[in-house]
Amino acid sequence: MEVDGRPTVALQRALYGHQTAIFWAHFFDKLGLRLVLSPPTNAHISQMGIESVMAETCYPVKVSYGHVRELMGKTAYLFLPTIINMQTPVDKEAGFYCPMSQSNSYMMRAAFATDPDRTLTPVVHFKYDPETLGLEIWEQIGPKLRKGKAEVRKAVYHALERQDQFKKELIRKGLEIFQEVKAFEPVLLVTGRPYNLYDERLNLRLGQNLAKLGLVALPMDFIDSSAVDLSDFPSMYWGLGAQILRTAKYTVAHENYFGLHLTNFSCGADSFIEHFYKHIMGDDPYLILELDEHSAVAGVMTRLEAYKNVIENSMQKLRNCGGMPKEKSDWRIEYFGKY
Ligand code: SF4
Repeated sequence: MEVDGRPTVALQRALYGHQTAIFWAHFFDKLGLRLVLSPPTNAHISQMGIESVMAETCYPVKVSYGHVRELMGKTAYLFLPTIINMQTPVDKEAGFYCPMSQSNSYMMRAAFATDPDRTLTPVVHFKYDPETLGLEIWEQIGPKLRKGKAEVRKAVYHALERQDQFKKELIRKGLEIFQEVKAFEPVLLVTGRPYNLYDERLNLRLGQNLAKLGLVALPMDFIDSSAVDLSDFPSMYWGLGAQILRTAKYTVAHENYFGLHLTNFSCGADSFIEHFYKHIMGDDPYLILELDEHSAVAGVMTRLEAYKNVIENSMQKLRNCGGMPKEKSDWRIEYFGKY
């Protein structure tokens, strides 16, 4: 219940947990508490999730049941926030999380009859300015944790700064990798959601398998796509959907970059976003991997090997044309002045 004399707060290493853990770790640390994450997804957690789920959902939501069940009763507090939206590069974008992620807290409380005195369930809008965000969080958890308004406000500013530093570090690392790429070496830009991209059970060790095939690949968070214009998708409702489409545009603007989109069966958001992704990719090769609890590494490898052949053929054509891979000079390039 305590680590180093600090009360512990449990956060699931699933869904929004992957994207916001840095923020919450620093937020609670500043308040004198200690954030504890569930272990990386393993067979046991996956199975517990599948057994606990109360209605048919996508695999990431099933897995989140397993993570929360794993954490039950092990910490002073269980943290089940309802995160409504995320920061967006353009202010007028909605930046919503998918409803299955937004409603996760309610699903967990219903499934596991959590103790209200030991469960923190704030509704959080990351698109709010820091002052409003601080007030929003304080109103909902400040009294329970016996923390004052000013203390919570300070913790929010501190956590936002640390999260921003972390994002910048990812992009710096991405640039470093791009600089090491040789001429005519293809690069895969992998889109998806953090709970797929960074969970080796959900993505079936995609990163390791691409490396085994000798392919350089970068997840979308390592690319600064914030300057990519998305005004031709004015109603893009989802924050991560917008990031996926921006990365797709960034991909097609470079001749030696190739798209790989990671998704899940039963993903409502991607039933729309995949169409937009394909539209942006146009005639360029791309691979969409749709996985769930029944998928196996062997099947994924077959598809990756086939895609590698397609990529090699494309690169061969490029070599035959002479010259170096470059940014394409079609209509899309106007969006990429910064690059
Ligand atoms: S975006 Fe798709 S995969 Fe993610 S929680 Fe929503 S439905 Fe599931």
